[in-house]
Amino acid sequence: MGKMKLMPDAHGRFGPFGGQYVPETLMPALDELSAAYHQAKTDKSFHEEWMALLKDYVGRPTPLRQAFRMSEKLGFPVYLKREDLNHTGAHKINNTMGQILLARRMGKTRIIAETGAGQHGVATATAAALFGLKAEIYMGAEDVERQALNVYRMRLLGAEVHSVHSGTSTLKDATNEAIRDWVTNVRDTFYVIGSVVGPHPYPMMVRDFQSIIGIEARRQFRQLTSGFPTHIVAPVGGGSNSMGIFYPFRQDPVALIGVEAAGEGIETGRHAATITMAERGILHGSLSYLLQDADGQIQPAHSISAGLDYPGVGPEHAYFHHTGRAQYVSITDQEALDAFHRLAEWEGIIPALESAHAIAWVIKEQKVLESANARVLVNLSGRGDKDVDAVLGYEEGNHGQEPH
Ligand SMILES: *Cc1c(COP(=O)(O)O)cnc(C)c1O
Repeated sequence: MGKMKLMPDAHGRFGPFGGQYVPETLMPALDELSAAYHQAKTDKSFHEEWMALLKDYVGRPTPLRQAFRMSEKLGFPVYLKREDLNHTGAHKINNTMGQILLARRMGKTRIIAETGAGQHGVATATAAALFGLKAEIYMGAEDVERQALNVYRMRLLGAEVHSVHSGTSTLKDATNEAIRDWVTNVRDTFYVIGSVVGPHPYPMMVRDFQSIIGIEARRQFRQLTSGFPTHIVAPVGGGSNSMGIFYPFRQDPVALIGVEAAGEGIETGRHAATITMAERGILHGSLSYLLQDADGQIQPAHSISAGLDYPGVGPEHAYFHHTGRAQYVSITDQEALDAFHRLAEWEGIIPALESAHAIAWVIKEQKVLESANARVLVNLSGRGDKDVDAVLGYEEGNHGQEPH
């Protein structure tokens, strides 16, 4: 495996990827954030406060356990890292809690965030409520309509939801609006980004906060088996839960598998398999792979799973793909739906549709993995309660509508 260089470099680059492609007016804010984060990272009291919150509020460490019936069905041991058991039901809270702590340390009193399906909005509103901070969440008007329940959750948590009507009224427009807000109100405002995306230092910062998953998993797996898994499998939207579990294993003899959403099939053009397509471009302030058409216009992503429905991917994943350190594969809506059922029946766990993509890959590769004597660790990024309605609608033949 060899030693890998510490990434990102001083310019926020992961090899050719990453960086800070933002308007000049935003540079002072990013510099201030970088400096504050660097200080916090080396401050013992910040670390202690963060660990105490993870333990007593989020409910960490999350369990890691062998899925015995699934293992028996497939013919090789499969282990699950249970991020679905976190407060709010997914890994996103690890990151929002870290960023809110940082915001407080910087003396910021106002929190903003963008959200697509609303899951990051809810995780941000949760962390803000815990500290009595005012959160304002930008969300595309389309998404506000499609995700009424999450909009209500955010309002319950005391957040204000701004419906964005520009462009296609979806996530990328909400992000533009959030950036505009940040430029205008940078003195008192902290911008909480929801995945390992955006300009430096966000991809590094979010990776570090989510690395708690891999740090725990590495220790737990070694305690359980005194070895390493042969494969770690995780779903990839923007890439935060996968990078969180991959990163602490990056120097270990373990295959890292990121599972993207092939949606209705790569060949239909209706998918979210960003790394699989491997087109380079700039989105939300950094250089990475993204879905774009021949004119360089961002192509809308499609997936049954709202959390994977993003046309970009974090720059460090682009780098892991570029160097071959991780392998990226894709799973269709239908394969993910099948896996959703299998895990529920086999293990009594209803997974998030995002996480079902990772389970689906393990099932799909059963023969190869069995003959390789694999020991597979899956990051179960979230619970599926939020998806039950959509799955039911989908299976009753309600295909006319976007499934989320
Ligand atoms: C948001 C989400 C994802 C995808 O986001 P990443 O940044 O790629 O982790 C995956 N699983 C769940 C449960 C999510 O909520």
